[in-house]
Amino acid sequence: MTETIRAACVMGWPVKQSRSPLIHGYWLKQHGLEGDYRREAVRPEDFADFLAHLAERGYVGGNVTMPHKDMALKLSEPDERALAVGAANTLWLENGTLKSTNTDVEGFIGALDESAPGWDEGLQKAVVMGAGGAARAVAYGFIERDVPRIHVVNRTLSKAEAFRERFGPSVVPTSFDDLPGALEGAGLVANATSLGMEGFPDLEIDLSPMRADAVAADAIYVPLETSLLKTARARGMRTSDGLGMLLHQAGRGFELWFGVRPKVTKELRALVEAELLKQQN
Ligand code: NAP
Repeated sequence: MTETIRAACVMGWPVKQSRSPLIHGYWLKQHGLEGDYRREAVRPEDFADFLAHLAERGYVGGNVTMPHKDMALKLSEPDERALAVGAANTLWLENGTLKSTNTDVEGFIGALDESAPGWDEGLQKAVVMGAGGAARAVAYGFIERDVPRIHVVNRTLSKAEAFRERFGPSVVPTSFDDLPGALEGAGLVANATSLGMEGFPDLEIDLSPMRADAVAADAIYVPLETSLLKTARARGMRTSDGLGMLLHQAGRGFELWFGVRPKVTKELRALVEAELLKQQN
């Protein structure tokens, strides 16, 4: 009898841009596992049906990328993180039930812990730029790590106000005009807007009001060194980039599907970095 190999996939529309197959393919090889991780281009109107037949299609679970993250939450049994963030990016079948989580939270925090160990020691104030999906994961990561004051700075203030309703009184909704005051004495700034991403204007920011030992983080990984990170490095600040977040968010899914907790190695980072550079040139 031939045994079918365990397989997972990334579901998106479009999906060809996803770097997840490179990451999971590396770990499968590194651990000598006979598994597979594929790309699945799934149209929004077909997504519910695709999930309903995930096992028949040979999958034990998968990642979800744009535009399916909200729908994935509704069509699965979410854990606390997915519920808190309001989006799911990782799915797995457990005794026939489709479960979900949001690994962007541990991706962002894992990258910070690696690049700037101790970043949250004595941290009184953090500033999150943006109020979209990535910003919700970043803000929830700060809530989990008990950051007492979290300024959420967004162009559309009503979306930052919704963060306070979602996450509670430690969130301070802030307009771009009030950014200098928010940065005053802050120990961490995280960019989760699209500003600084290829094809978007740079995030212009004066970091001088921040603490001397402050840390800057960015969710963006194209380009790898965003305008925010460049400015922060020029000030001698420690930084954490979006590629670190991408790599650290992937491990939980791999563990759920293939039963091994993989490591984010220097070799893996170099592999994905080379692929990103190739696509930019
Ligand atoms: P999103 O939900 O569309 O949110 C976009 C955010 O950017 C909103 O806060 C939006 O403000 C702001 N924004 C867009 N254009 C702007 C402009 N011209 N001026 C000021 N603000 C602007 O997107 P998302 O899913 O949160 O993604 C945000 C970034 O995070 C993207 O670059 C994405 O690639 C990255 N990301 C990285 C990872 C990773 O693993 N590294 C994971 C997830 C996301 P308004 O609300 O005012 O429109």
